Amino acid sequence: MATGSATHPALLGVRTTATHCPYCSLQCGMEIAPGQDGAPEITPLDFPSNRGGLCRKGYTAASLLGHPERLRTPLVRDATGKLGPAGWDDALDRIAEGIADCQAEHGREAVGVFGGGGLTNEKAYQLGKFARVALRTPSIDYNGRFCMSSAATAANKALGIDRGLPFPLSDVGDADAVLLAGSNIAETMPPAVSRLDDLVAGGGALIVAAPRVTETARLATVHLQLTPGTDLVLANGLLHVAIREGLVDEDYVAQRTTGFERVRRRLGSYWPDRVERITGVPVSELRRAAALLAEAESAMVLTGRGPEQQHQGTDTVLAFINLALALGLPGRPRSGWGCLTGQGNGQGGREHGQKADQLPGYRRITDPADRAHVAGVWGVDPDDLPGEGRSAWEMLEAMGAPGGVRALLVMGSNPVVSAPNAGVVEERLRALDLLVVADVFLSDTAKLADVVLPTTQWAEETGTMTNVEGRVVLRRAAMAPEEGVRSDLEILSGLAERLGCGERFAPEPEAVFAELGRASAGGRADYAGMTYERIAAHDGLFWPCPDEAHPGTPRLFADGFATDDGRARFHPVSHRPPAEPTDEEFPLLLTTGRVALQYQSGTQTLRVQELCEEGDAEAFVELHPALARRHAISEGSCVWLRSRRGTAAGRARLTPDIGLDMVFMPFHWGGDGRANLLTNPVLDPASGMPGFKLCAARIERVEDAAPRREEPVT
Ligand code: SF4
Repeated sequence: MATGSATHPALLGVRTTATHCPYCSLQCGMEIAPGQDGAPEITPLDFPSNRGGLCRKGYTAASLLGHPERLRTPLVRDATGKLGPAGWDDALDRIAEGIADCQAEHGREAVGVFGGGGLTNEKAYQLGKFARVALRTPSIDYNGRFCMSSAATAANKALGIDRGLPFPLSDVGDADAVLLAGSNIAETMPPAVSRLDDLVAGGGALIVAAPRVTETARLATVHLQLTPGTDLVLANGLLHVAIREGLVDEDYVAQRTTGFERVRRRLGSYWPDRVERITGVPVSELRRAAALLAEAESAMVLTGRGPEQQHQGTDTVLAFINLALALGLPGRPRSGWGCLTGQGNGQGGREHGQKADQLPGYRRITDPADRAHVAGVWGVDPDDLPGEGRSAWEMLEAMGAPGGVRALLVMGSNPVVSAPNAGVVEERLRALDLLVVADVFLSDTAKLADVVLPTTQWAEETGTMTNVEGRVVLRRAAMAPEEGVRSDLEILSGLAERLGCGERFAPEPEAVFAELGRASAGGRADYAGMTYERIAAHDGLFWPCPDEAHPGTPRLFADGFATDDGRARFHPVSHRPPAEPTDEEFPLLLTTGRVALQYQSGTQTLRVQELCEEGDAEAFVELHPALARRHAISEGSCVWLRSRRGTAAGRARLTPDIGLDMVFMPFHWGGDGRANLLTNPVLDPASGMPGFKLCAARIERVEDAAPRREEPVT
C-alpha cells in the first residue's frame, strides 16, 4: 500500500523539538529536527516511558510528514457521487446545513459523533463538548470503547477509579513477579520490554498468559498457553490454588477489601484439573504460576486486550483483580493490578467526555452534581445537556434505523476497518444522509464520506496525551501545518460558529487545556493543577493533580481505594461459554490482534514505505502447519477466512506457535484484508466492549472457495 515518502517544501520549516510519538500509549519521547535536506528526522529521547528507545514505527514516523498521499484540501461529494476538492467555507457550510436539516427532520440525537483514542486530551474534551453543547446530542462514543472499556468498567467496580496503570512503568521492572495476561508488548510497545528485562535480570519471574507463543511469551519464565476465551477460568483457577495452598494475604483482605467470602465460595468449583481441562494449562504450571506470584515480595497482575475484548471482558478483568486483591497487591510498593492501554491516548481519551456516559474528569453524565459542575464551566443550563447515549457498536449498528443516527462526524477513527462486523458498518455508513470524516489521509472510512476534512498531524500541532501510566505528556508542534489543513480544534470551532455557538469553542489547544482543567476539577481524573509549563518541566504529570502546587500522583491506593469506604471490592465471577461456539461449518477459533510494524487500522503505518518493506504490508492469517496440511494450504498462499458475518482474505503464514484448531489474523488492513469483516459484535453487557478476540471461523484455499459476498471498498 505504501507509495513512498516525499519531502514537501512546506516542511523545510521544521525546528528541533522535543515531543512524543504519534502512535501507541507508551508515548515515547522523541526529538524532531531538520535533517540534511531539511526534511524532519527523528531521534529517541531519554524520557521515562521509553528510556531512549523507540520501535520501528516511532523511528519512521517522520515519513508521514509531507507524504504524497496527505490530504491537503477538503473534499466534498458532488451530485454525481464523486469526491472533489472544495474550499473550507464551502465544506463547513455543507456540514452545518446537513446537520441542521437532519436535526430538524429527525431530532437532535440523529446527528452523531464518533471519536478516537488517538486524539489529544484537548480534542477529546472539545469533541465531547461539541456533541453536548453545539449539537446537543447524546449520540457520541469513540473507538476506545473497542479497546479499553472492559478494563475501565472492572477497575471502577473493584477499585473505584480507572487509571490503566496506577503506578509508573518503572515499578514493573522493580517487581519480583509479573503476570502479563493477554498482552504482547514485545511487539506492540518494544521499548517497554526493557522493564521486563530489568525484572528478569533482578531475579524476578515473568508469567505470560497467551494463547499463542508470542514474542512476549518467549521472554517468560512460565508461559500459560491457554485456549482462547478461557482467561477468566485461568484467573479463577490461580486464585483457587492460592486459597487452597494458604497463599492469600488474609490481613490485607480483612483490612482493605470487602466481599472476599463470596469469591472464596464461588471459586470452589475451579479446581485445578477442571481448569486444565477448560484452559489447556497443565495443573503443574498453574500451581507454579500461583506460587511465583504469591511468594514474591512484590508482584503485579497486568492485563491487556486478550482478557478484555471478550463478551465477558469485564468479568474476566474482575477475576484478575480478585487475584491481585487476594494476594494483597494493589497499593503495596512495586505491586498491584494494572491494564496496559493500547492507543496513544487510550487513557486520556476516555476521561474527558468522548464516551456516551461521561463528562470531563470522569464525571458521569447521569449524575446531577456532575452535570451541574460541567454545565457551569461550559456556561449552559444543566438541563440542556443531553443524557447518556449508545455505546460505540450500538450507535454504529443503529445507524439509519428509527431513533438511530442519520448523520455522523468521525474524528480520529476509521470504523470501516476497526469496528466489529465491519461489513455491516460499511453498509450503514454508506446509507447515511451525511458522513463527515476528519483525517490526515483518505482512510477506508473517509472514502465513503460526503465531506472529508484534511487535518493537521501530530508534529504540526501541540496537545497533551495521557500515556499508559496515567502520565500526562506534552506533544509539541515541531513545524507549521501544511498549507490547506486545519486542526481538529479549528474544525470544531468553525462548525460551532456556523451552529451559533462559536464563542464557546476556542481553537487554541492551551486555552482548551485550561478549560479542561476547570471542567475536570474535583472529578476523579482531576487535571486542574496542570499547565503546559508544569507538564514540560516534570517529564509529564500524573493525575489526579488538583492544584498548581500539587506534584501529581504517580501511585494510587497506598492509603485507600477510591470507593465510599476506601476498601476495594471483590466480585464473584463465573465463566460463561463462548458467545459463538465452533461447529462443523465453522470449526476454528479465530483470534485477532496486532503486529509490530503496523498500528491500528493502518491508515498511517501502511503508508510508511520503510515499514511495509520490512514486512506485514498485506493481510495475513497465521495457522498451524498441521491445519494447513489438512486444507492443502502452503506458506504464502492466499486463503479466505469465513465467519458467520463475512469473508476476509490474507496470505497464509504457517507457524507451530499457534494451536491446531486456531487461526490468528491481525486487524490492520482495509478492503478484503479486514479481520473485522469476521469478528463478532456481541457486547460485554457491562462495558459495551465487542468480543473481538474470539469467534468461530473456517479457512479455505482461495481456489477451493466460492465467490465472495463483499464488494471492494471504493
Ligand atoms: Fe514508542 Fe509506541 Fe511509538 Fe513505538 S509506537 S515508538 S512503542 S510510542
